[in-house]
Amino acid sequence: MTPHDDAEFTALCIKLDETLKRRGSVNSISFEAYTDALQDLPYSALHNAGMDFIRNGDWFPTPKEWREAAEDHLFEDIVPLALPAPVASRDVELKTITLPNGTSVNVMISDWEFRCTACEDYGWTRTPCPGDRTCGRPFRHLAHEVVGDCPCRKTNDTYKRHHTPSVAARKAQR
Ligand SMILES: [Zn+2]
Ligand SMILES: [Zn+2]
Repeated sequence: MTPHDDAEFTALCIKLDETLKRRGSVNSISFEAYTDALQDLPYSALHNAGMDFIRNGDWFPTPKEWREAAEDHLFEDIVPLALPAPVASRDVELKTITLPNGTSVNVMISDWEFRCTACEDYGWTRTPCPGDRTCGRPFRHLAHEVVGDCPCRKTNDTYKRHHTPSVAARKAQR
């Protein structure tokens, strides 16, 4: 999440607050605490997780629950990339591999290349933050990893092919 996601994040929190029950006697949400607890995650994952809570949840999520749900969405975005590429690679070599049980299998080696070596076409970059202001937090904190959008997303055709909205594909993943 970056500072310019703040407005959308606030709107999403209000949406959740209006839709879901609250635990205990908490009457107002501390946006600041939530923002701080979740800010190293990309807003798109938080948004998708938030919409899941609105659709399927009963309670306003705790930061921990929201984190866990958002991390599932990070993973969900990466899963389709494990599928073989439809056109971009060519089979260049047939290899026969012998498995430990003695069976031989033929494996086709392709000339697949990553369009972006920084993110290997996943679209996410991981930057270590030693606990200083690298991630944007204005105070000292424990070292962690900052996950962000890779700048290649707009031009990376592999990334784009895997992230073209397809209702059927998204439903199949659930
Ligand atoms: Zn990239
Ligand atoms: Zn940091």
